[in-house]
Amino acid sequence: MKKSKVYLVGAGPGDPGLITVRGAELLAQADYIVYDRLANASLLGLARNDAQLISVGKRSGAHSYKQDEINDLLVDLAKQGKTIVRLKGGDPCIFGRGAEEAGQLVREGIEFEFVPGVTAALGASEYAGIMLTHRDYSSAVAFVTGHESDTKPQSSIDFAVLAKFDGTLVFYMGMGTLEYIASGLIDNGMDPEMPVAIVADATLATQRIVMAPLREIGRIALDADIRPPAVIIIGRGAKSDEQLQWFTSKPLFGRTVILTRDAAGNVEFARRIAQQGGSVMQYPSIELVGLIGQSSFETQISHLSEFEWVFFTSANGVDFVFEHLASVGKDARVFGANKIAAIGARTADKLKQYGIVADFVPARFTTAALGSEFKSKFQIAGKKVLLLRSAIANNDLDAGLAASGAQLVRIDVYTAKPVAFDPKGLVDQVRRQRDNWLTFTSASTVDAFFLSVNADVIKNRVKILSIGPVTSEQVRRHGLDVDLEAKEHTTASMVETLCEYLKESTDA
Ligand code: SAH
Repeated sequence: MKKSKVYLVGAGPGDPGLITVRGAELLAQADYIVYDRLANASLLGLARNDAQLISVGKRSGAHSYKQDEINDLLVDLAKQGKTIVRLKGGDPCIFGRGAEEAGQLVREGIEFEFVPGVTAALGASEYAGIMLTHRDYSSAVAFVTGHESDTKPQSSIDFAVLAKFDGTLVFYMGMGTLEYIASGLIDNGMDPEMPVAIVADATLATQRIVMAPLREIGRIALDADIRPPAVIIIGRGAKSDEQLQWFTSKPLFGRTVILTRDAAGNVEFARRIAQQGGSVMQYPSIELVGLIGQSSFETQISHLSEFEWVFFTSANGVDFVFEHLASVGKDARVFGANKIAAIGARTADKLKQYGIVADFVPARFTTAALGSEFKSKFQIAGKKVLLLRSAIANNDLDAGLAASGAQLVRIDVYTAKPVAFDPKGLVDQVRRQRDNWLTFTSASTVDAFFLSVNADVIKNRVKILSIGPVTSEQVRRHGLDVDLEAKEHTTASMVETLCEYLKESTDA
């Protein structure tokens, strides 16, 4: 049997980009991933499809594992000759009980490795622009727990020493004992005016920060309703330096963008939004379904050489075609005799991944524009053209090509089917907060979305961003206004257009 190994991996403080290269590599290899509540769930996307994911985090309602149970679970899994990643928030050994888990493994003769992570104090300080060390005012930093283990009395925090500490104190797990910490420090001689910053949800799009002098911080944090997880930073550096607030000044920071397209299509879209500081909620309203098996595709590819041109109208269509070809042991060489047209840069990029450089990529994105640009460049009257398209796209391109005298063969490669979802989370979100942008990337997604969500319930509570005029029109048919439309027909342009719009409205 293969020897098991357990990796105790730091997930970083929240932003999934803060995992280490080593951590990401191990997540992609693991048979089992045992993860905490504070480890960002989107990191689990790195796991193998067949990896087993086990949550041991505390969530209200759900069973949470006690430390002994986690230790036993790791040992049990390790007895199966597997690779196990124990994914822990921040760094595995900073208030992370990494030593207890590793200790048990050692006692059982199981190999382990530690993989360090970015601990919350560092994430919070750098994403909030607060320096823990600074050559002018802080030459030391201490990480302190505000909540000792249940068996130790609170009084084990040595306030007499901490009050005289000449540097920055960072308390973890201190929100429940904030008043106790503040008064303990003041009673032992710390200046009541000492700056304090509390950073909650550090490095996430929901990051919040409150600042106050030590004597007031308890009340102010309570008024601001600031909730864990949070670190409490106390020291002369715990002030905001506006110049250093790179994170909270991102264009989408504090805003929620709701994605509705198919789950696979959302991945790249979500990444772009996160890069601009936004938080993402995903409600995939459609799923893409291949139609090749039910079409005349097989017959047509057996005499592809008769076609002058083959048109691909979307990146998804390219994937469906090449996945099908692979399943019957074929590849890009079947198109060896054809000229290839791709609608849009993304379609062309996707073709490149399968080894095909398109002969024609239109400058503009809509199918109608493509038809007329194509006609002005190429003679296709009487020539055979194969159109590999989605069943739900409009017929502009077909009509344009047919009008120029081409002999058109059209094959529907895939279609979109509505997926029903429970709208409760979405409705709660738009009721709670107004900075929400609901996005639509196609008319079919609009229709599918409103099968699950009542348009009246979200009307005027959410702003709407659409990919283009056809999609916008469909939104209006459901009785809602479109607030913003992308300049180009891509999700990248949707994000860009939104960032520009928000920048202009804050500058104004
Ligand atoms: N091993 C973790 C700490 C676990 S103890 C690490 O190295 O970061 C849990 C405490 O970590 C929380 O009570 C909070 O004080 C802090 N914490 C974790 N994630 C945080 C976040 N995103 N923002 C602020 N504090 C966080």
